[in-house]
Amino acid sequence: MKYLDEFSDPQLAGKLIEEIKAVTTRRWSIMEVCGGQTHSIIRHGIDQLLPDEIEMIHGPGCPVCVTPLEIIDKAMEIASRPGVIFCSFGDMLRVPGSDKDLFRVKSEGGDVRVVYSPLDALTIARDNPDRQVVFFGIGFETTAPANAMTVYQAKRLGVENFSLLVSHVLVPPAIAAIMESPTCRVQAFLAAGHVCSVMGTEEYPSLCEKYEIPIVVTGFEPLDILEGIRRTVLQLESGRHELENAYPRAVRAEGNAAARRMLTDVFEVTDRGWRGIGTIPDSGWQLSPGYRDYDAEHRFAVTGIHTAESAVCRSGEVLQGLIKPHECAAFGTLCTPRNPLGATMVSSEGACAAYYLYRRLEVSHA
Ligand code: SF4
Repeated sequence: MKYLDEFSDPQLAGKLIEEIKAVTTRRWSIMEVCGGQTHSIIRHGIDQLLPDEIEMIHGPGCPVCVTPLEIIDKAMEIASRPGVIFCSFGDMLRVPGSDKDLFRVKSEGGDVRVVYSPLDALTIARDNPDRQVVFFGIGFETTAPANAMTVYQAKRLGVENFSLLVSHVLVPPAIAAIMESPTCRVQAFLAAGHVCSVMGTEEYPSLCEKYEIPIVVTGFEPLDILEGIRRTVLQLESGRHELENAYPRAVRAEGNAAARRMLTDVFEVTDRGWRGIGTIPDSGWQLSPGYRDYDAEHRFAVTGIHTAESAVCRSGEVLQGLIKPHECAAFGTLCTPRNPLGATMVSSEGACAAYYLYRRLEVSHA
């Protein structure tokens, strides 16, 4: 398949690995921000092919994983109400809340539906004017434009029985928060190519400058990731700290102007909680005043729900790169993809699930 097979060529991958080995002279810790990149690195064994000096740290870039428990509990509460049709992408249905997940709500009689686009939820709302239809709008800058477009359309069409339960998060403030952490070991970042295809790269040079870190915008196929790592190591070894775009087939400096206009109209920046990490200032979006009537949290009066994270799950440390998934005592024993304790085991983009699925089965019995 074009743009996939040609970016998985084993001979070219071998060449890039040799180039990385040739320029590496000391230990470096590089964080890939995106869960899709984590999945690709573990699935293809890229981290095992790199020189021992290079450690890949798996960052908080899986949207399912960083959605706070509190928002999951709010989703359960809304989805359980009579007269509500609760729509979501399928990967959110198994994410555990405090005492159940959306599958359980559905089995108990809640009208929970999997959709493939937020616009499908809007269609359901138009077809069911006597019901309240809610779409679970989570994720990074990648999923936000479609959600923004849907709310914009709902307002334009006068669909008043539609609302959005929104928990969008932003990558650049998360990079800043990771670098500000006293336990931070990260020396460089692979930035998420799809996020930059929407938002552009204008926010990153100031991060490179402030924290003296290389940031390389990187794609998702094996050759994309190896090229991102190669460029990152070259910068680290030569003492440079710049933004580079290693994914030019998808990313332009200015991003997608139409999507950015829609985002600016429908959303405004707000503080957001990140599961396992806590609140990061100005790290998310909420509906702007012109669209606040479509905010499900206010419509269903669930803003008062506050939830503490599980004491057993160490996903916060995983998401900050402080431990590897198999160093958690629950990994592979109490916590598996069939019975996940934390969000990083639920999603296939989560680091714990990626380690479990792709051979990292060393189970801690400590
Ligand atoms: S293995 Fe399970 S319990 Fe441990 S950090 Fe990962 S998701 Fe949490």
